[in-house]
Amino acid sequence: MKKAEILTLLTNLHVLREGHFLLTSGRHSDRFLLCSQLTMHPDSTELLIQELAPRVAALKPTVILGPAMGGVILAYELARALGCRAMFAEKDGEKMAMKRGFVLTEEDRVVIIEDAVSTGGSIRKVVDVVQQSPSTLVGVAALFDRTAGQVQFEGVPFISLMEIEITSYEPDQCPLCQANHPLVKPKS
Ligand SMILES: [Zn+2]
Repeated sequence: MKKAEILTLLTNLHVLREGHFLLTSGRHSDRFLLCSQLTMHPDSTELLIQELAPRVAALKPTVILGPAMGGVILAYELARALGCRAMFAEKDGEKMAMKRGFVLTEEDRVVIIEDAVSTGGSIRKVVDVVQQSPSTLVGVAALFDRTAGQVQFEGVPFISLMEIEITSYEPDQCPLCQANHPLVKPKS
């Protein structure tokens, strides 16, 4: 798929939204990615994961590991495409942890997947989980890179479907506030 086709799909499914959004950081933006609106459609999710899968296959993973919630369905779908296992890590206080009987062994080659990467904070917490296990981290994948290719993880390849730039503003410098556009909390 071409980038324009993916953007059209994301817009039509209301994954990529335009408006005036309050981000969890407190900043305001004019676009927002709501990836739950993609995974609501298994066929479209499969389509985008199929675009990513050949590049992840080159890393020869045995486990795809996603942070909950955003990474759970994507890990499952990518693992299905590559014929390997899917696991997820979840919040455990300030850290992430693997619960529910998931175990990484020293034979495992792990790729972490997340829906969208902005600061990389949640992925780094999952990297810690992998590094505390006997397995090997071989890559990090995401559907959307919001860092313009600036983020890196522990020297392993970072593979994204596409870069999406979202401009954000401090509230007192936000042009949408100045134009009196109503502010929306996109996840509530
Ligand atoms: Zn604003």
